[in-house]
Amino acid sequence: SRAEITYFGAGPAALPTDVLETAAQALLDFNGTGLGIAEHSHRSELATNIINEAKADLASYLDIPAGDYEVIFMQAGGTGEFAASVYNLVGAWVARQHAAILKELGNADEAAVVAALRERVEKDLKLDYIVTGGWSLKAYQEAVRLLGPEYVNLAADARTINDGKFGKIPDQSTWKLSKDAALVYFCDNETVDGVEFPEFPSVLAPKEDGTGPIVVADMSSNILSRKVPVSNYSLLFFGAQKNLGCTGVTVAVLKKSFLPPTTTQPSPALLRKLGLPIPPIMLQYETIAKNNSLYNTLSIFDVYIAGQVLKKLLRTYSDKVAGQQAVSEKKASIIYAALEAHPDVYRIVPDKTVRSRMNICFRVTKNGNVDEAEKAFLKEATSQGLTGLKGHRSVGGIRASNYNSISLEGAEKLVKFIETFAKA
Ligand code: PMP
Repeated sequence: SRAEITYFGAGPAALPTDVLETAAQALLDFNGTGLGIAEHSHRSELATNIINEAKADLASYLDIPAGDYEVIFMQAGGTGEFAASVYNLVGAWVARQHAAILKELGNADEAAVVAALRERVEKDLKLDYIVTGGWSLKAYQEAVRLLGPEYVNLAADARTINDGKFGKIPDQSTWKLSKDAALVYFCDNETVDGVEFPEFPSVLAPKEDGTGPIVVADMSSNILSRKVPVSNYSLLFFGAQKNLGCTGVTVAVLKKSFLPPTTTQPSPALLRKLGLPIPPIMLQYETIAKNNSLYNTLSIFDVYIAGQVLKKLLRTYSDKVAGQQAVSEKKASIIYAALEAHPDVYRIVPDKTVRSRMNICFRVTKNGNVDEAEKAFLKEATSQGLTGLKGHRSVGGIRASNYNSISLEGAEKLVKFIETFAKA
C-alpha cells in the first residue's frame, strides 16, 4: 500500500498523500459545485482564482519580486522550455538590435534597416550554453537544431574535464562566454547525473549598475528545495512533476522587461527575412502572459495540485523555502554520509563539490561485480518498501531522488538500508 513504500523515483515523483486525497475529492466535486475540477471551464472564475492563488503562493514561497517577474503556466514540459527560451530570448535580442539600428540609421527605408539587422544577426547573435549533464546537453542540442550551430556557443562542457563523462562543473574562469549573448543557459540540477550547482555562478551575477548577462536556468528538479536569487535570472523554468505537482504543467518565471511594453517580439515577417525561426504561438511568452496563462485550454487540475502543494509548504514552513532547504540538506547529508562510510561497497558518482541534494547517484561495487551487486541492492531495497531507486537508463547505477515529498523518516529508512546492505 501507499503507506508502506517510500518512492525515490526521479519524476514523476511522489506527491503528499493529503494533497492527493483533497485532489481526488476535487476531481469528483469541486467545492460543492457538483462538477469536478477537471470539468469546470478553464475560463471560469474559479479557474482564474486557482491560477492567481498558485502564482501568488509561488511568489511568496520563493520570494519572487512580483512587480518585476511574471509567472506563466505552460504545457510543453521542460523540453518545451528548451525551445521556448531560445525563441523568446532570440526574439528579445532581435528587438533590442532593431531598436538600436533604427536609432543609428535615423529615417532609413525599411529594406536598409532589415539589411543592417540581418548583418548584425549573422555577425553577433550568440547563445551560450554551460553543459554539465544530460539535460543541459539536450537544451544545447535543441538550440542548435532550431537555429543552426553558427549561433550556438558551447561555453563549457563538463565532459572535457572528467574523461568524457558528466560529474563535475568546469571552473567558471574557463567558461567561454560571448559578448552580449542572447542568453546564457545552465541547468541548476542535473537529474540524471546527480550534479547540482552549489550556488549561483558568480561570473553571471549582475553588475552594480544592474546590467549583466541574460541568465536562463532549468530548475526542473530542484525548484522549491532551496532559496533562489531570482533577480539574477532573466528566466527560470521548471516542469511540475518533481517538487511542485503532477506532470502536465510547466512554470516559467520571466523578467517583465522581456514582455511588452518594454520588449515586443519581432513579427513573423521580420523573423522570416532574418532567416530566424518563428515560435509556435503556444511557446510565445508574450502571448501566454497576456492571457494569464489561458491562451488555450490549460489543465486547471494540474495547476490546482501545484497550488495545494505550495499551500502545504507554506503551512509547514513559516520561513518558507528556507525551512524546506534545511530539511533537504539534512536528508541529503545523512544519505551521502552513509554511502561515504562504506567506500568498499559504494562509489558516489559526481564530484563531492557538485553533488546534488536532489538526485543522489552512486554505484554499488560490493564484491567487484557491479551488475550483480546493483541488482541485489535494488531487489532487497524493494522488498523493504524502498522503491524507484534504479538509475537513469543512460547511465545505470542507483539514483535516490530526494525530493521534497521524501520525509526525513523516509531518508532515514534509506540510510538504514544502505548500512545494513553494506554490512551483510
Ligand atoms: N530538465 C530537467 C532537469 C529534467 O529533469 C527533465 C525531466 N526529467 C527535463 C528537463 C525534461 O522535462 P520534461 O520531461 O517535462 O520535458
